[in-house]
Amino acid sequence: MATALRIGVVGGSIAGCAAAVAGSRAGADVTVYERSGAELQDRGFGIVIPPPLHRELVGSGYLDARMETAPVATRVWLTREPGGRSTRELARHSSPVTPCNWGLLWRSLRASAGAVRYLRGLPVTSVRETADGRAVITTAGGEETYDLVVGADGHASRTRQLLAPGLSPEPAGYPVWRGAIPLGALAGHPRELELLRGAWVTLGFPGGHGIFYLIPGGGPCHGPGDRLLAYAIYGRPPASWDTDADPGPYVRELAREHFPAAWAEIVARGTHRTTACHPVADVQVPRAARSPLLLAGDAAGVSRPHTASGAVKALQDALCLERVLREGPTVGAALERYADERTAAGAHLLELGRRMGRAQVDETPDWAAMGQGQVDAWFRGVLAGTRHYLYARPAPGG
Ligand SMILES: Cc1cc2nc3c(=O)[nH]c(=O)nc-3n(C[C@H](O)[C@H](O)[C@H](O)COP(=O)(O)OP(=O)(O)OC[C@H]3O[C@@H](n4cnc5c(N)ncnc54)[C@H](O)[C@@H]3O)c2cc1C
Repeated sequence: MATALRIGVVGGSIAGCAAAVAGSRAGADVTVYERSGAELQDRGFGIVIPPPLHRELVGSGYLDARMETAPVATRVWLTREPGGRSTRELARHSSPVTPCNWGLLWRSLRASAGAVRYLRGLPVTSVRETADGRAVITTAGGEETYDLVVGADGHASRTRQLLAPGLSPEPAGYPVWRGAIPLGALAGHPRELELLRGAWVTLGFPGGHGIFYLIPGGGPCHGPGDRLLAYAIYGRPPASWDTDADPGPYVRELAREHFPAAWAEIVARGTHRTTACHPVADVQVPRAARSPLLLAGDAAGVSRPHTASGAVKALQDALCLERVLREGPTVGAALERYADERTAAGAHLLELGRRMGRAQVDETPDWAAMGQGQVDAWFRGVLAGTRHYLYARPAPGG
């Protein structure tokens, strides 16, 4: 079916590049429009994906097997010793993940999209449907008509409005600070470095938590020595906090106040390679496709980053898109199946993200009073009978 299909993709980030790979693998003629004129690979954040998805993407040609990753198999929960500054381990459980460097992931998808027309620095100004069931993309360069338009324009998507007019993200009421620090920040902290070489870490504090894990550095020297420490810290800043200010000083202050001394020192050290403060919000379209339009990645829905699933969802959206296009028999039928599968997946993540946010930010437990059994029981409550890759296996003895 897809042999003569023309696909236009709005947005050339993770979801857009993955959709471009999907379309071209299904035999379509794909054009990607990316607003940014800069190299997206410079966004050097950490992204965690499930190992089976990584294997599937490598096996099916979406990712290069040589793309560096930093897999670990365990999750460790830490907090500050009450009344002191030392670190207390609450729990650990089996949680195999494949941490990636955002830039390397994007670069690998972009390379796999190879022959597609990728138009950088060209914002899409509008998308409209035609009477014969196709869609027109307008840019400063003119108009082009497509059989299918994929909206992959991120959390503030404008193409989302075509499928869900008036729908807007619902703020969670707290932000996340995200960054990456050169490994040198761990100098003098061999215990923490050793821990991070085998595990990803959640550090609980009153009113929030921080996530820490190693990612490939993305520099010229590949291998286990080339690593960055990626972090995401969730909490509620004081009302007086200036959302436009450099987030670095506040992150350091938060760490000084709540983290064990070693972790506060690690955060305080080093030049943070990338630092950003993202407002956390929830949004999910009621239906992710209606021919000739389809939404992918954050454009279709944003779940809270506690789920570590936005990029995962974008990649799964692409795998689904390729499959439904191959199965056909028409674009309309293919998009109906896509909408059935991917809307349900997005809705599940949205709810799980809300529960995680409530448990890990809004109503944080008394971390210091918890041990292995309590953490397991508490998290089983958050999962509420659902499954998620970060909690794929029960804790030892759980
Ligand atoms: C702190 C934090 C941690 C996270 N950790 C993880 C994790 O561990 N695992 C995971 O799976 N996910 C994670 N995520 C989520 C993940 O980063 C996002 O879900 C994912 O990157 C979204 O990709 P996207 O391509 O849909 O959107 P984006 O990356 O936002 O890309 C949208 C693109 O569209 C372009 N665009 C927008 N408008 C136009 C236009 N009009 N014309 C042309 N181009 C346009 C933009 O320039 C941009 O390049 C995390 C998110 C945060 C905030």
